[in-house]
Amino acid sequence: MGLLLKIFIPLLGGALAFYFYSAPPSFNEGMLRGKRVIVTGASTGIGEQIAYHLAQMGSHILITARTEAKLQKVVERCLELGAASARHISGSMESPSFPELVVKEAENTWGGLDMLILNHIGYSGVSFLDWNLGEVRKLMETNFLSYVAMTTSALPMLKESEGSIVVVSSLAGKTGSPFVAPYSATKFALEGFFSSLRHEFVMDKVNVSITLCILGYINTERAVQAVSHILRVTPAPKEECALEIIKAGALRQRELYYLPWVVRSAVLLRDIAPEFLDSLIRSSYNMENLRR
Ligand code: NAP
Repeated sequence: MGLLLKIFIPLLGGALAFYFYSAPPSFNEGMLRGKRVIVTGASTGIGEQIAYHLAQMGSHILITARTEAKLQKVVERCLELGAASARHISGSMESPSFPELVVKEAENTWGGLDMLILNHIGYSGVSFLDWNLGEVRKLMETNFLSYVAMTTSALPMLKESEGSIVVVSSLAGKTGSPFVAPYSATKFALEGFFSSLRHEFVMDKVNVSITLCILGYINTERAVQAVSHILRVTPAPKEECALEIIKAGALRQRELYYLPWVVRSAVLLRDIAPEFLDSLIRSSYNMENLRR
């Protein structure tokens, strides 16, 4: 018995020490209290839910999208939920000057910025062997170039605060998906740009984190409307998804996979059995309904 205790106690001590020193930092809502956060695409969907979570955590929030009336309602709700402050600026990310305007608004209001959550997307719908080059260019402007423009303008403030950039992407930005080729291309572009930028931040000792959020199918109104008739998959909840995005950003994680097991398995299969993954993806669509 004595010998067993002599072995067991140091082992337990070692295990506890390992657990506490190696456990990843854990999230608490106080991390966002008083932080100054921009959320794009926050008039509806995941962005709207991100704004509500941040409000409950006591952040200062600046939201943006095109629809003024919806943004006003989201701001009112954020104030009810306890935001330190909430304001909005409306405009289209298709316009090359708008991203900078949003960042200027944050600078003029707060004099700094702690977190930039890039979440908006232009509407592209689903199509089969059919695309319009002009529309693809527009989508690239909205879904990719405006993300780069906002990052460029916000970087001096984020360097100052040692803040965070959160980029909302998709499984369609990790592996090709039928019917959404232009959308998928814009998401792949985000991965290339922000993964490269992360290297340069480290090399230049810039302490700004970059979190890429790789999402599966989420139950936002627009997504369900666009694909529920062809996709045989149950969407995950937008409220939980929004919270996981905030947590990943606050913890300065490199990537978030949501739902974790779905997205993680797909990314793993992409590397070890790409043909198999492709056939799984194709089999999750109902072609009959697409043609109708
Ligand atoms: P959503 O409900 O369609 O919301 C998109 C937001 O972007 C809205 O606030 C919209 O507001 C705004 N927006 C649209 N066009 C814009 C423009 N030209 N300029 C500025 N803002 C514009 O989208 P969501 O489903 O929440 O998706 C949010 C993010 O998650 C996106 O990055 C998406 O790629 C990613 N994601 C979603 C899913 C999903 O299944 N839902 C899956 C994977 C990844 P206005 O119309 O008022 O401008």
